[in-house]
Amino acid sequence: MPDSLQALLRPRSVALIGASNRPRSLGGMITERFLAAGFQGQFFPVNPKQSEVHGHTAHPSIAEVPGEIDLAIVVVPRDFVLPTLEQCREKGVGAVSVITAGFREAGEEGAGLEQRLIEALGPMRMIGPNCMGQMNTAPDVRLDGTFSPVPALAGPIAFASQSGALGVVVLNICHERSIGFSQFVSMGNKADVTENDLISAWEHDDAAPVIALYLESFSDARALRPLAERVSRRKPIVLVKAGRTSAGAEAASSHTGALAGADAAYDALCEQTGIVRADGVEQMLDVAMLFSRAPLPRGRRVAVQTNAGGPAILATDALIAHGLEMAPLSEPTRAGLREVLPAEAAVGNPVDMIASAGPQEYAACLERILADPSVDAVVSIAVQPPLFAASEILDALHPVIARADKPVLTVFLAGPELMDHVGSLSGPPPVFRSVEAAAAALAHAVDYAEWRGREHGEPEARPLAEDEIAQEIARGHERKDGYLPADATFRILEHAGLPVTPWRLVGRLAELEAAGAEVGYPVVLKAEASGLVHKSDVGGVAVNLTGPEALREAGELMSRRLDEAGLGPEGRQWLVQAFRPGGREVIVGGHRDPSCGPMVMFGLGGRYVEVFGDVRFALAPLGAGDAERLVSGIRGARLLQGVRGEPPVAPGVAEGALRQVGLLMERFPEIAELDVNPLLLAGDEAGCGVVDARIRVSG
Ligand code: ADP
Ligand code: MG
Repeated sequence: MPDSLQALLRPRSVALIGASNRPRSLGGMITERFLAAGFQGQFFPVNPKQSEVHGHTAHPSIAEVPGEIDLAIVVVPRDFVLPTLEQCREKGVGAVSVITAGFREAGEEGAGLEQRLIEALGPMRMIGPNCMGQMNTAPDVRLDGTFSPVPALAGPIAFASQSGALGVVVLNICHERSIGFSQFVSMGNKADVTENDLISAWEHDDAAPVIALYLESFSDARALRPLAERVSRRKPIVLVKAGRTSAGAEAASSHTGALAGADAAYDALCEQTGIVRADGVEQMLDVAMLFSRAPLPRGRRVAVQTNAGGPAILATDALIAHGLEMAPLSEPTRAGLREVLPAEAAVGNPVDMIASAGPQEYAACLERILADPSVDAVVSIAVQPPLFAASEILDALHPVIARADKPVLTVFLAGPELMDHVGSLSGPPPVFRSVEAAAAALAHAVDYAEWRGREHGEPEARPLAEDEIAQEIARGHERKDGYLPADATFRILEHAGLPVTPWRLVGRLAELEAAGAEVGYPVVLKAEASGLVHKSDVGGVAVNLTGPEALREAGELMSRRLDEAGLGPEGRQWLVQAFRPGGREVIVGGHRDPSCGPMVMFGLGGRYVEVFGDVRFALAPLGAGDAERLVSGIRGARLLQGVRGEPPVAPGVAEGALRQVGLLMERFPEIAELDVNPLLLAGDEAGCGVVDARIRVSG
């Protein structure tokens, strides 16, 4: 961790500028919280109007504080923040936490002021402004620089929040559920320190084995990609991303642009970097708690143990719905379970130990279930048993779970007292309040474990003919709608290493015959005109033309149709293309997300893309295995594998096209959008090829 962040997150001396005895002021609240936490370093309250704050000598200004200051917490009125930061800088303070609000979030004037704060920082780092401060619960730090009404319980999770209020919500839930934090940072306006800084700081911090984030916007999503990919290989990052971008839908004139729904880029970012994207803060805590208390699952086969049927059925439903599997328990496991259970109990999966089950039965059955090699994880459900306290069950399970090298998720459908008991255990097991929450958390853990087990890095891709592509882009730039002409489009794709079906473009009907002979029959004839987006809509596509006669007739007919449709003859061109019958149509797209940058898309193409919108996205350039996951991840993937005797499509063609388009989007920022629709996929590689494409350049 760089020294400046060390000063921020693990300070040894803290000045609280705006410390106060007044209980109902922000400064007073922070002072109280700070003192209650029992900070292990040196503390210097600063207040020009009070000589003493809660028994500590107060200094009139930061300049008059003796000794070095790692962290200054700033809670002065807005107009004093800038001069205060200037004094801090002069004093050589390491970092500042600006609690005061009224900056960028308050409009233009505030934004201007915030900019001046950034300029005043010099070597100092800053969290905020407009933040709730930070906590560090390490026994040798014990910092609480917030005005949160609830203190953080000590524990493993390092949590950064873009919203102070949500931070408090989270701390509250954690209190209720005995979930602890190592650090909590409210990032406020993120004027200087962002989530990326904190993720980097926590990367090698052993006190922070799990990172949790609540974000409303990414400060730098493009820089986050390599960072998160690296950190996720070491420890999980669990994210809640609130707020959906509408900017992505802007300029959605291509399929790819229109289909790139608001959140597609963030989902892709998370999928590719191993970030676990949680559905709300409760789930974020469930998943972070699970990661911090259990080993990673080695597979998706789950066993359920329970003392009641209903919750076990719900658990099974939830597990299956999340893509997990019910582990088939082996005969020896069942026999072992029978030894400890009454005859009425069920020893399949779920293992229903019935209502009489007590602490011993829970522990003995769990041991036996865990020993079964077909079990990757266990969900242990206890409905408040009639004869025992829930805490007795937990106490019996605890040592078994602590020894296990597989995750065991306990679900206690019992009173709130149990959670206090959880808090009193050293190294408590994962405890959930519903089977659905446990199933969702486990599914996230399985996905993360799978991500960790994957090969990472760059896939093999063919180099692009960059000079040639640049020339085509420059040549095609003249059209004012930004779309490149058909010939430039096809050549760019060829230079980018995509298989393009043989084609010729001619300006006059009289040239068709020569073009047909060059391409080789049967051919397809297409009309090209500026402003003509969907050629088939106006009868501008004629397929399977078997000879020169058919080609000429098709040309004449098409010419008349275009005239009727009001698409005048100027700029009209004729594309003669080899006919490739029987291929399955897919779309390969590229676009730019305003925050994540270049992206690729894959889906079922042709007309299907409009009807089903069955597409998936990934950030460009693609990482190892990304193209394969896109292709196999669409709902209609089976159509490509071949149904009802149909052969599968030639392997690797779509994947290769995706990788090449990913490179193209990355290397050529001038390309705003690109649609290859369709790429025809046949059973053999020679029969595959791009037959239609559009590229829009910007600027
Ligand atoms: P547009 O999308 O402008 O209507 P396309 O060039 O995509 O025009 O052609 C429309 C449809 O015609 C394609 O989706 C495909 O079904 C079929 N098609 C086009 N070109 C060929 C070809 N070379 N071989 C076989 N089928 C083709
Ligand atoms: Mg098309």
